[in-house]
Amino acid sequence: MLDFSADLPVLTSGTLLLTPPAPAPVQTLLLDSRRVGQAGGSVFFALRGPQHNGHRYLPELYQQGVRLFVVDSEADIPGGLLAYPGSGFLLVPQVLAALQAVAAAHRRHFRLPVLGITGSNGKTIVKEWLSQLLAPEERICKSPRSYNSQVGVPLSVWELNARHTLGIFEAGISEPGEMARLAAVIQPTLGLFTNLGTAHDAGFASPQQKVEEKMQLFQDVDTLFYCLDHPLIHEAARRHLPAHRTFTWSRQHPHLAHVAVTVAEASADRTVVRVALARPVPQEHTFTLPFADEPSVENALHALSVLLWQQLPAAEIQHRLDRLQPVAMRLEMKQALNDCYVLDDTYNNDLAGLALALDALTRQLQRGRRTLILSDVLESGLAGPDLYARVAALLHTHGVARLVGIGPEIRLHQAAFDGVEAVFYDTTEDFLRHFQPDTFRRETILVKGARRFGFERIVAAFQQKIHGTVLEVNLDALAHNLNFYRRRLQPGTRLMVMVKAFAYGSGSSEVANLLQFHRADYLAVAYTDEGVDLRQHGISLPIMVMNPSPDAFQKLRQYQLEPEIYSFERLHDYLRAAQEQPLPPIHLKLDTGMRRLGFAETDLPELTALLRENAAHLRVASALTHLAGADEEQHNDFSRQQLAAFHRMTPVLEDVLGYPILKHALNSAGILRFPAAHADMVRLGIGLYGVEASGQEPDALQPVSTLRTTVSQVKTLPPGETVGYGRRGQAADFERRIATLAIGYADGYDRRFGNGAGEVVIRGQRAPIIGNVCMDMCMVDVTHISAAQAGDAAEIFGPSLPLPELAARIGTIPYELLTNVSERVKRVFVAE
Ligand SMILES: *Cc1c(COP(=O)(O)O)cnc(C)c1O
Repeated sequence: MLDFSADLPVLTSGTLLLTPPAPAPVQTLLLDSRRVGQAGGSVFFALRGPQHNGHRYLPELYQQGVRLFVVDSEADIPGGLLAYPGSGFLLVPQVLAALQAVAAAHRRHFRLPVLGITGSNGKTIVKEWLSQLLAPEERICKSPRSYNSQVGVPLSVWELNARHTLGIFEAGISEPGEMARLAAVIQPTLGLFTNLGTAHDAGFASPQQKVEEKMQLFQDVDTLFYCLDHPLIHEAARRHLPAHRTFTWSRQHPHLAHVAVTVAEASADRTVVRVALARPVPQEHTFTLPFADEPSVENALHALSVLLWQQLPAAEIQHRLDRLQPVAMRLEMKQALNDCYVLDDTYNNDLAGLALALDALTRQLQRGRRTLILSDVLESGLAGPDLYARVAALLHTHGVARLVGIGPEIRLHQAAFDGVEAVFYDTTEDFLRHFQPDTFRRETILVKGARRFGFERIVAAFQQKIHGTVLEVNLDALAHNLNFYRRRLQPGTRLMVMVKAFAYGSGSSEVANLLQFHRADYLAVAYTDEGVDLRQHGISLPIMVMNPSPDAFQKLRQYQLEPEIYSFERLHDYLRAAQEQPLPPIHLKLDTGMRRLGFAETDLPELTALLRENAAHLRVASALTHLAGADEEQHNDFSRQQLAAFHRMTPVLEDVLGYPILKHALNSAGILRFPAAHADMVRLGIGLYGVEASGQEPDALQPVSTLRTTVSQVKTLPPGETVGYGRRGQAADFERRIATLAIGYADGYDRRFGNGAGEVVIRGQRAPIIGNVCMDMCMVDVTHISAAQAGDAAEIFGPSLPLPELAARIGTIPYELLTNVSERVKRVFVAE
């Protein structure tokens, strides 16, 4: 094992600023202060990014017991070295390079075959499939999910241990120079190049440069697998490797490839291929791939070529292919019975994947206690007692209160879980037979099982399917949008995020949790009860309440919610209550032109007098104003007048208060339109949810919400007939096909979409609404979508039907469509 003082300085060209008092074996590489598991043996690498400086978190880590640190600047250590007695500090030229060097040294300890995978698409799927296909004879260490970056690769390789017999790691790059660094960490002996698409083209001068760069991964491999039908890959392989170090397959050039593939039959759900090999002896086989779409077929052929190269018997290959399953690329969080949430991760179960899923569990949701339903952990390469001791430690550090263990192995090692409320079953059937829904209530349940345990049946048991309509909220898109705005802020500007109106319909506590994780500075809600709800879900960020009712001061106090004060009446109410018992600080709303709420400039003399008299029971946290036309250029002059008034008014307040207060004026559109006016804080709203209201950067955001329903029935409508209430659906003189959808105005689907104003997307095609929108359903014309059938999904809005377009169709704004989605529609939260 590597030692912090003896090995790391040499490996990283570093200098010990502080030597740890005892030998310090390096057990865990730690990058995030929010993910400290076992503090002992953890080395924290203080990485830097455009918006991030790891050095800032050193005190927090020290507090949590971490004692080993890798830094790149002594000056950036908060409090200086003296604040960290008993620690080891290593100063290196570049922290990321140091992390990679440490992982590379770890990799050199193991002499085993390691397959490196790169390419534009399919890396993760090919990796997951190969590990499913090779699992019978190998103990595999692989990258968890798509951990393929400059940071993800070292962390993946660090998981290698002596019991593994094969490593499979994926490498992804976005700029020249990156692949050589990943190759040095992975040190592959085998390679697989999936394909070459347009992803990340921006970082490269030409496709040739991109393929050259990717080829850097394979300089030293004994065998490179690839498909000859990608000419750029083939040419690059020829330049870099002699033919005997490649193994190729092809559909277009059967005579040139090791494996000639012909598609014999393609049906709706499978593809039959004929495969001919010239070596070691001429042979032909027929295989059935359980997929029909082209990306899956290509990925499966890559995996198949590796099995053929291994000379596995054809019957055995087919047997394994039959069990191949689509890979769920993301975690899904689903509302479930008894106010529970289920985090669905039922596609594999190894130790690294479990750690990631537990991270997601702690990061994204806070609902009651945390429960884990866990199958036997596979592919760990560790002996049972050691493995389950590690699992138990993971449960402990992630605050899991309750465990349901399913499988003979976990049951055998149940002693490892002393101290957790735990029950064990031998099989999934056993669990389902004894399943009592009432014993699960208001908790977050991670369901994590290896494929063969069939845990999707458990997820289904938890999800009461009342209604086929769901609002899918993409948490990765939320984080992307948050970071987009954050990058636009002037240095030092804080970020308040508006989570009013159920977080614009997306689910307040879930969104707030994500914002808390991503270290937003402030939240704002419209009403006191919304704030109380956030506190009850574990949100500890400061919260501003924009419209607190005068009788709610007790709740403000109890839940530490900060009221916005916008009138003398409210200020007097507040002062009266504050004289009895201290209250949280206030936010003064200034009216500079919106003419809705707030103190006008002419109110200042009276306001300052009151503030002065009551200085003893009053603390002002901020002053704010709101622009009336931030989203439209035509109002720029007016907006500037508003900002000017704000700049006149706030110094007067600060003068009388005698201390600085936060000043904030801008909403999402304003952040982009008036960068010079970011001031101390901005208030991000609709932009977080994926709508760029200023129209300046229409492509910068990712859509967050997708409203989706299902087709309940498809009917044929003879010529001359109408559809629905009031016989409003126009008759036509030809036969039509009409699909009935399980969504209506009670779900928030506006009645104004009726009679052709609205469209939905079914099987990738648009279908117009026909007739009136009813309370619980509506009808669409699918005459032109011949494959449409009951059970199909219909997108109401989302990536294929952008909110701004839909809103314009009925003369409203995206805000209204988002916040109208009724609470009876289930929210499903997804994340990679
Ligand atoms: C809702 C709201 C915002 C956010 O506005 P967006 O246009 O959604 O960014 C900002 N400030 C106040 C006072 C608000 O009420």
